[in-house]
Amino acid sequence: MNRFDLTGRVAVVTGGNGGIGLGMAEGLAEAGAAIVVAGRNADKNAAAVKAIEGKGARAIAVVVDVCEEASVQALMAEAERAMGRIDILVNNAGINIRKRPELYTLAEWSQVIETNLTSAFLCSHAVYPAMKRAGGGKIINIGSMMSIFGAAFTSAYAASKGGIVQFSRALATAWAGDNIQVNAVLPGWIDTALTRRAREDVAGLHERVLARTPAGRWGTPEDHAGIAVFLASPASDFVTGTAIPVDGGYSVQGV
Ligand code: NDP
Repeated sequence: MNRFDLTGRVAVVTGGNGGIGLGMAEGLAEAGAAIVVAGRNADKNAAAVKAIEGKGARAIAVVVDVCEEASVQALMAEAERAMGRIDILVNNAGINIRKRPELYTLAEWSQVIETNLTSAFLCSHAVYPAMKRAGGGKIINIGSMMSIFGAAFTSAYAASKGGIVQFSRALATAWAGDNIQVNAVLPGWIDTALTRRAREDVAGLHERVLARTPAGRWGTPEDHAGIAVFLASPASDFVTGTAIPVDGGYSVQGV
């Protein structure tokens, strides 16, 4: 028996059209899952579907705004209609607005919280009936080092990512009886479009991350393929409510 085999499983990955989401989607595809790429940008969605199909897996794209309840419900309905079932949900879509807290507007605060945290509620809520029909499921929520630490330019982002961990714990306890396991992944500093902008905005960030990360490098989207497969597969059936760093040792560096 291969405990990591995802043949016949269907995964919905929000923000699966690039960065960490695509890295996870490709890992799930390599393990045998069919993938529903869910993002706003139709061109990026189409390119991601092509990349996943290149790995021999079935994939479709659905345009979604994870902040809109109707859009999220339409996503889950279309995913289940097209693929027949939904077993895995990766709540990965996210943004950051880097500003000191005293400069934040309410609109900016709400945009970050809605995109990073409320979206995980909307997507989990919308996928629950499909997972019940499938006999169980796996939900993987993406946190951050800002689930653990703070930084001057991350008030809304850190609040959303701390919330993701607590939301995961609450969901894990609520849905354990439905055979749905819910876990969070806390990426370290990963080279994606999100952090390329951060490196431009925050002086010295690139060097500070390198100096603080025991692995001595920035992470890559591909670094998240393995944890996605583990948390989506029968190998993790007794693992729920956890928050697992994928950070090259960043969060355990003492000095
Ligand atoms: P990217 O900017 O590369 O990816 C963000 C993804 O989110 C895109 O696919 C984007 O799709 C999607 N997205 C954003 N807003 C919405 C929306 N309203 N509706 C639907 N999709 C949306 O960043 P990363 O890959 O770096 O980030 C992915 C996740 O990982 C985020 O939650 C981020 O907070 C987290 N993370 C990243 C770290 C890093 O170092 N890079 C570290 C820790 C956590 P589209 O372009 O189509 O809108």
